[in-house]
Amino acid sequence: MVSYKKLGLVNTKKMFAKAVKGGYAIPAFNFNTMEQMQAIIQAAVETKSPVIMQVSKGARKYANPTILRYMAEGAVQYAKELGCKKPQIVLHLDHGDSYETCKSCIDSGFSSVMIDGSSLPFKENIKLTKKVVNYAHKHDVTVEAELGVLAGVEDEVSAAESHYTKPEEVVEFATKTGCDSLAISIGTSHGAYKFTAAQCTRDPKTGKLVPPPLAFDVLKAIEKKLPGFPIVLHGSSSVPQDCVDTINKYGGKLPDAVGIPEEQLRKAAKSAVCKINIDSDSRLAMTAAIRKHFAEHPDHFDPRQYLTPAREAMKEMYIHKIVKVLGSNNKL
Ligand SMILES: [Zn+2]
Repeated sequence: MVSYKKLGLVNTKKMFAKAVKGGYAIPAFNFNTMEQMQAIIQAAVETKSPVIMQVSKGARKYANPTILRYMAEGAVQYAKELGCKKPQIVLHLDHGDSYETCKSCIDSGFSSVMIDGSSLPFKENIKLTKKVVNYAHKHDVTVEAELGVLAGVEDEVSAAESHYTKPEEVVEFATKTGCDSLAISIGTSHGAYKFTAAQCTRDPKTGKLVPPPLAFDVLKAIEKKLPGFPIVLHGSSSVPQDCVDTINKYGGKLPDAVGIPEEQLRKAAKSAVCKINIDSDSRLAMTAAIRKHFAEHPDHFDPRQYLTPAREAMKEMYIHKIVKVLGSNNKL
């Protein structure tokens, strides 16, 4: 058993309370590689932002859970080395699928876990979440739960259809489980194809898809039932069209990839939404930079040559999100 406190990590408790009060949201960036971790930490340190580094099931399979845990420990030291005296870094399990997974992450030094019982019947979701909360709180680890179903596919989390969170269920759920934050479904979706063409309209000038707006009425109703309670949005990449265009220009094939417009996320960040999950945008930024680099330097074969601009592109994207969308800069 290793406490996250020994690793210099923090849980989400104070961070979320401050964010809800201050009308901004904490970035939750997924990471799988060293370059992503470096870019996340560089961006957080430069903007003086708290940050959540999160680990999905796919990331644990790809990188190995032990390595990711040590990378997070390294991230804290790296932030200090970059000049941040008191970094606020959360190591969070994204979409924990069982009590056992959550427990093993807590025991290895995670400061926050998500238990995703959203596909279970309401009562079973409460039961499973409560079990995780009981264990987590013994170790001062915070727990994110989920009510409602997001559409889309991301790292083995998939659902064909989304079902908005029912505002009439949130009080009973939060009270009975004791969870610290709640992921809700208001129209965001996992992956780089958040909406089908049929769900969108098309901009006559650019030919690009314009996605349907998020259900802010549902968010408002939830906030009314649970005033000040930390709300989480998953699947909130914006799928920047310049990245998609670069990828397509240099041999990629991502037709009609579409995300959540940033002005909608900006609006959400000002509400009780205090954690916004962004994964696909980092993948797109990295891939666009690498494809461009290979097209321009066909003779390169040293990974450092193409991973350097890839890391730089991710860092710029993270800084953009922190400063221009979430507003979590200068909050340390
Ligand atoms: Zn998610």
